[in-house]
Amino acid sequence: MNRVLVKGGTVLTMEPGDRPRLADVLIEDDVIAAVEPGIQADADVIDATGTIVLPGLVDTHRHVWQAGLRGLTGDSVLKDYFRSIRFQASAMYRPEDIRVGNLAGMLEAIDAGVTTVLDFCHAVSTAEHADAAIEGSLESGIRTQFALGFSDVPGQDASLASAEGRLALAAKLREGRLASDDALVTLGIALSDLPEVGIDRIRTELTGARRLGLRSTTNGLAILFHEPVDDLAVFDEAGLLGPDLVWVHLNYATAEQLRMVADSGGSVATCTEAEMAMGMGRPATERVLEAGGHCTFGCDVTTSVSGSLLQQARTAMQVGRLLAADEGMAAGRAPESVPPSCETMLRAATIWGAEALGQSARIGSLRAGKQADVILVRADAVNTAPVHDPYATVITQAHPGNIDTVIIAGEVRKRAGALTAGWGPVREALESSKEYVAATVEKNGGFFPDPPLYLPW
Ligand SMILES: [Zn+2]
Repeated sequence: MNRVLVKGGTVLTMEPGDRPRLADVLIEDDVIAAVEPGIQADADVIDATGTIVLPGLVDTHRHVWQAGLRGLTGDSVLKDYFRSIRFQASAMYRPEDIRVGNLAGMLEAIDAGVTTVLDFCHAVSTAEHADAAIEGSLESGIRTQFALGFSDVPGQDASLASAEGRLALAAKLREGRLASDDALVTLGIALSDLPEVGIDRIRTELTGARRLGLRSTTNGLAILFHEPVDDLAVFDEAGLLGPDLVWVHLNYATAEQLRMVADSGGSVATCTEAEMAMGMGRPATERVLEAGGHCTFGCDVTTSVSGSLLQQARTAMQVGRLLAADEGMAAGRAPESVPPSCETMLRAATIWGAEALGQSARIGSLRAGKQADVILVRADAVNTAPVHDPYATVITQAHPGNIDTVIIAGEVRKRAGALTAGWGPVREALESSKEYVAATVEKNGGFFPDPPLYLPW
């Protein structure tokens, strides 16, 4: 048995009722064996002195394949993102570009303390592309729910041009390499966008996913399309809401609709930076909490924003505070408090994220019996010392450079601030993929063709 002892850190278990305390975490193979002070064990010791020890972060919405396109849409609104990334670049991607994109994107996530990602993979133009994305994620060592995209990709294989075709691919993966819900890489479904395909196709996709025992995720931004659709109302009327759905970008949902999602047991992923950067409206974080739900975070698109989940949590918190204070100030009242709290944001980035993925029994907190997904954040750095409130240190100060150690399923993936997999060879592969994709896109009118691509809905 492989034993690792994380010794002497300030531990935030994120278990209900637990407070920060000096403790050790004993890991046996891929499982947490104990969390308590003064553990003596015959184990490899990781000295956690000067660090804050917490469960790995959980990202509930990220298009990991896009790592090779970082920064491409830094000044773009959502429509231009669709045109350049979804309908131009994705059509030019070879399986190898997806593999290296996923490997690099997952290493970026690990570097930033993320141990689980819901990978919304909507560049699946052939079955080989799906395999390549899974391959890249497996190579990184991260835990992921691979959400197989059901949206059409220009130039896709004819077998994937229908919901039935994509369900057949999902069934094949479900029977094959992604059969287990307990493995490091599990399978889910990323539904098509409702305005693009209509509710009948969504019903086919979602009921098909449920028949295969798979969880699903969907965008909730239909109001921004040519012909606005009240997606939550349509899903509700069709009887399709449920606890197995992660809703993304509910910026325009009403309080009543957010309650409806919470009552259905569904979850909400807020992608704070991307939503603000691309004109998607006010992030819903604090309104989800007010509606009785649990908010979670995703980085969404590193074509436009950072890959730091802590950054998403921090920005969500401060924007929520800004908007709440603004409402009071408009009525002539200075705020008496500034919710949501740092502790709440860290809960959203860990255990609530795990809940959203249906995995809170296995990950999201530090408790004996759970999977050993553990991160150490340096609390003695120039930007983090001294510590008065460890939740605040992590949420308001820490950045990926402060993530000292990342352990996923008992395997050390980052140590003393450096990825154990290394970066050099991956970067070379990513650069050569970038060269190929950019040259191919250029031959087809560039990333931003003039006139702009027609959006088909
Ligand atoms: Zn997205």
